[in-house]
Amino acid sequence: MSKSVTPKIARWFLFMQQFDYTIEHIPGDSNEVADALSRVGHVRRILVSDARTEQIMESQKLLSERVRSKCEQEEGLFIDEADMIPLSSESRDLIQHIISDHHNAVVGHGGYATTAHKIRASGYVWPSMYKDVADFVRVCPICQKIKDKKIPKAPKLSISVEIPFHTLFVDTLTISKEEEPEKYVIAVVDAFTHWVELIPVESLEKEVACSALIPILARHGLPEVIHTDGGSQFCNYLADHLWDTLRVKHHVSIAHHPTGNSTV
Ligand SMILES: [Zn+2]
Repeated sequence: MSKSVTPKIARWFLFMQQFDYTIEHIPGDSNEVADALSRVGHVRRILVSDARTEQIMESQKLLSERVRSKCEQEEGLFIDEADMIPLSSESRDLIQHIISDHHNAVVGHGGYATTAHKIRASGYVWPSMYKDVADFVRVCPICQKIKDKKIPKAPKLSISVEIPFHTLFVDTLTISKEEEPEKYVIAVVDAFTHWVELIPVESLEKEVACSALIPILARHGLPEVIHTDGGSQFCNYLADHLWDTLRVKHHVSIAHHPTGNSTV
């Protein structure tokens, strides 16, 4: 298969492989059984039954004089200035058939825009075309099934807490004032109540940071989980020993994902 073949043509080719067929070119002059539409040179539709052509002609009888006056007549069909075949919105059966042909094709069940585009590419147009196509696609049973099978996106993980002081978020802040002896603050936020505790400290050494948490844990009771952002003051052997002794789970935000600890 040529590399220039589009994916759609490739799918048609694969589908046609199941049939045993021979392609024969029949020149237009000698193709006496061709229907009216396929004989109209500039109309792109090439395979339409005679019954369909009659339906189209019936529909065009319902067109207003204003629309018809802007059309040329070829082979009994009205063709407008844009080489399109205008139809009346009142021809419900014909419209349903045309939408069905273009939506339920072998490689079909495209969305509303794709189906409408295919119909226009075949040369059909009518005033309520986009609404009719949207209505058709919305209730198409095959599309409903395909939609149901689509894999749902994984929900964003969020921390769900139902008990006060079950989970604490801990982070450090830097205070810029040079003259202050306490240049840093350890912020502790309860995930459930959003209660905030701020502890000023002189440094962020692990001993200082871990010690600063003790009064808070003593006041509110031991939490189940302490969540930090991976800073070294809470990720070290001393802190690990503290979590183990207190039987507190230590959760660390994923690197380069600061929103994981965004409660603080
Ligand atoms: Zn469908």
